[in-house]
Amino acid sequence: MEKKIAGAGISGLSAAITLKNLRKDINVIIRDKSSSIKEKVPRGVNAIRNYGNNTDIQKHYQNLGFKLRNFHPITRQAFILGKNKTIEFESENKPIFYSTMRGTKSSIDKMLIEQALELEITIDWNSSYEKEKPDINATGAKYSHCIGYGQHFEDVEETETIYVLQNHKYCPFGYMCILPYSNNEATLILGNFNPSKKIPLKENYKRILNEIPQIRDYTNGATVKYDLHGVGNFGIPTTSKNGSTIFVGERAGFLEAYRGYGIHNAIISGYLAALSIVNGSDYDKLWKEMLHKSLEHGLMRRLAENKMNISSERILNKLFEKKTLLTSWDKFRSELKIIEKEFLRTADLNFLQESMSEWNEKYKFISD
Ligand SMILES: Cc1cc2nc3c(=O)[nH]c(=O)nc-3n(C[C@H](O)[C@H](O)[C@H](O)COP(=O)(O)OP(=O)(O)OC[C@H]3O[C@@H](n4cnc5c(N)ncnc54)[C@H](O)[C@@H]3O)c2cc1C
Repeated sequence: MEKKIAGAGISGLSAAITLKNLRKDINVIIRDKSSSIKEKVPRGVNAIRNYGNNTDIQKHYQNLGFKLRNFHPITRQAFILGKNKTIEFESENKPIFYSTMRGTKSSIDKMLIEQALELEITIDWNSSYEKEKPDINATGAKYSHCIGYGQHFEDVEETETIYVLQNHKYCPFGYMCILPYSNNEATLILGNFNPSKKIPLKENYKRILNEIPQIRDYTNGATVKYDLHGVGNFGIPTTSKNGSTIFVGERAGFLEAYRGYGIHNAIISGYLAALSIVNGSDYDKLWKEMLHKSLEHGLMRRLAENKMNISSERILNKLFEKKTLLTSWDKFRSELKIIEKEFLRTADLNFLQESMSEWNEKYKFISD
């Protein structure tokens, strides 16, 4: 049996590896239109959420059959709300995030490619399925719903904390974050998640580095290695199948729309697509069980912020007032959930549900 996959990103590789792990006799061929991994993914740090899971996410991926290692544990998160206004939380139990490198060296991309090659999966670069339909479409973002600009640094001093700048003046409809990695590297990235607003991202990024002391201090003495930019899309399709083709990862809209996390959804949807092919189960049912709740929560928060300006900044400002009571990351999370719910109630849940339906109606992910 032969299975064709379009796209050698995280979702396509996860699907290919799982197909082979489950059935050695399947011949798996991936075609990717880029000339190499180097062309398609620049070096940079990405974060994967480890909170909200009962299991450790790195172990979970390993249990699913992925040879993923070198994740860097992050135990602290600091929210910067403005100049000299920061709230910081530390997890006592387990890492709240893992950071992982993207690109060619010691990266998640490289680890998955190496595993795929060990399993004798064919990866044809500079290649695509023109007329033939692939069994799995893993070709990444179809729309530009969010856009990011940032820089990758070497020689940073602090690598235990993820910093998030949430400030409407500097990062409207988005946020800026500092994502550190173990070997004193860090990526700073600013995102705009409102496609209807044209935000001068590069100018805002430069202003942040000049004007926000906490971020200026972080980058002081560090070396800029290069600039980064990219786009993403999000939405919740009713089905992620079209004829015999299954859609996975960002090509299916599976990006958490509030913060832009897509790696987990890419791994899990790739895994579930392969599982459904091998054992004949219903892919739509599987991804809805595993991913729908967090996709819906993210999209609702994103549309609430974009349409009604219910921003995290306002929510975090409320928490800032209570910060003496918030002694740990867990206390912060439970208080955040309560305040978030209060804010969403003021936004009118029916209106938000309608906005989500409109969004999902407008952006179709399963067409060619
Ligand atoms: C700047 C930036 C920062 C991010 N940070 C984070 C983060 O911190 N945490 C997180 O979880 N997520 C993050 N994301 C999102 C995450 O990177 C993506 O959601 C995830 O990589 C999607 O994987 P994918 O396999 O679905 O798609 P992609 O990684 O986009 O892979 C698609 C592949 O398909 C190939 N392709 C495209 N068209 C064709 C075609 N017609 N035929 C053949 N091949 C084709 C492309 O060359 C590419 O290799 C970030 C994204 C960006 C842009």
